[in-house]
Amino acid sequence: MEKIGHYVAIFGGAVAGSEAVYQLIKNDINLVVFDQNALPYGKIESGLPKWHVKLRDKQEQKIDERISDPKIKYVPNVHLGKDIDFIDVVKNWGFSAVLLANGAWRDRPLQVEGIDAYIGNGLYYQNPLVAWFNQNHDPNYKGEWLDIVDGAIVVGGGLASLDIIKIVMLVTVEKALKEKGYKANALMLEHKGISTVLNELGLTFDDLGIKGATLYTRQGIEHMPLAALPKNADDIMREKIYNVRRKVLKIAMDKFLFKVVDNHVPADKIIKNGRLTGLKFNRTETKNDKIKVFTDEFIDVEVPLVISAIGSIPELIPGIPTKGEVYRVNDIESGQLEGFDNVFILGNAVTGRGNIRDTQAHGRKVTERIVDQFMVNSEEDYKELFDRAEELTDFRLSTIGDKIKSFSPLTSEKIQKLMQKITALQNRTGYNGNYQQWVKKYTPPRLENMIQHEK
Ligand SMILES: Cc1cc2nc3c(=O)[nH]c(=O)nc-3n(C[C@H](O)[C@H](O)[C@H](O)COP(=O)(O)OP(=O)(O)OC[C@H]3O[C@@H](n4cnc5c(N)ncnc54)[C@H](O)[C@@H]3O)c2cc1C
Repeated sequence: MEKIGHYVAIFGGAVAGSEAVYQLIKNDINLVVFDQNALPYGKIESGLPKWHVKLRDKQEQKIDERISDPKIKYVPNVHLGKDIDFIDVVKNWGFSAVLLANGAWRDRPLQVEGIDAYIGNGLYYQNPLVAWFNQNHDPNYKGEWLDIVDGAIVVGGGLASLDIIKIVMLVTVEKALKEKGYKANALMLEHKGISTVLNELGLTFDDLGIKGATLYTRQGIEHMPLAALPKNADDIMREKIYNVRRKVLKIAMDKFLFKVVDNHVPADKIIKNGRLTGLKFNRTETKNDKIKVFTDEFIDVEVPLVISAIGSIPELIPGIPTKGEVYRVNDIESGQLEGFDNVFILGNAVTGRGNIRDTQAHGRKVTERIVDQFMVNSEEDYKELFDRAEELTDFRLSTIGDKIKSFSPLTSEKIQKLMQKITALQNRTGYNGNYQQWVKKYTPPRLENMIQHEK
């Protein structure tokens, strides 16, 4: 017999979704958590590069503790917008409220006309690349195999592009070392740094016989978001921060041996024999934080592979109104979706571009970061991002929780119908309600354990 009361659907069980679980369950609200994947770990599993072992495990354990609560109904492998229709769920299923904690899973499209026709044929985007890298050591990996060839360029300059260029270098150097008969793996190369590993082996980069990868950025190096520039910084402070940025990038370049070409923006594609073989760039100039593009001058860069790492944005889901790259909200405080009284957005799904604001949560200043606002350089930076996502979720939930409680509770007939739908979906995916067992079954093998085993 299901409990009379409020039933809330949460789409996405990761940082924001599981924080919503943690907060709402205290209010005695019944929760159903849907996720498109078997595991509800979101960007922690598929976006955070696999060398952040401790942070990944800690965050995933936190999610497990929350979603494994027997009062939560978990529905894995259900994609809102493909397997079930958003409008149908909101209008007909009977939930008291729907929370969208579905993150930012769409690659921001590269602004070069027609280039997406070459995905997998000279072009990769960042999200599939990290998802592949995080699992490419699994002998039973069944997803799409990415062929990361030497000499690739990464187009970026923001949050994820430093990770992406590192991944490309780790993959190509590991391959080159193995071809020469040396033992190598991504974790060891990342931990020590490629230059140190080569030194220890008595090798130079040239000995590997590879070119390495190059990061192309739209802005100048000193304008890359590698260190925060305080508002109203004077010229002296500005110069200081610019120097820090140059230094941070140089340390990463020395350690991982990639190159950077700044002040270049993609303008057109180069196609040969039906394959993308490079990009035509326009040169840019960054002055007073504004980027000027010189559109009359083209620089051809011919390469075997282009990787776009210009950020992630919320997925387009039929029925969900959007404004630019993000979902359209009525009220930024609660994240209420425009046109829907009982649909609220949490986490990265609302943290799109151009959405910066300061709020007070837990007596602490919480800033909603825009996608690509800064680069992550260390594990601490990532931890800060996850903590912020949680704090913002808490902030919104203080309003959402009160709104939900003001709605009338569901009748027992409505609850029964809703539960029939949930059970049917769980049965379809083979989920039997034992969360811990399910997670154990679907957690992929970890590279660190495989290496331990090899020793
Ligand atoms: C590479 C990278 C880039 C980052 N960029 C930023 C950034 O720009 N700004 C920022 O604040 N933080 C960023 N972060 C930090 C971090 O991702 C977020 O703060 C935090 O993970 C957001 O959590 P979330 O729960 O909102 O989203 P996610 O971790 O993305 O979780 C969303 C969940 O929803 C599920 N889901 C998605 N679509 C559907 C669907 N249609 N139906 C059902 N389920 C669905 C997913 O499977 C996932 O479990 C980044 C992290 C990484 C690793």
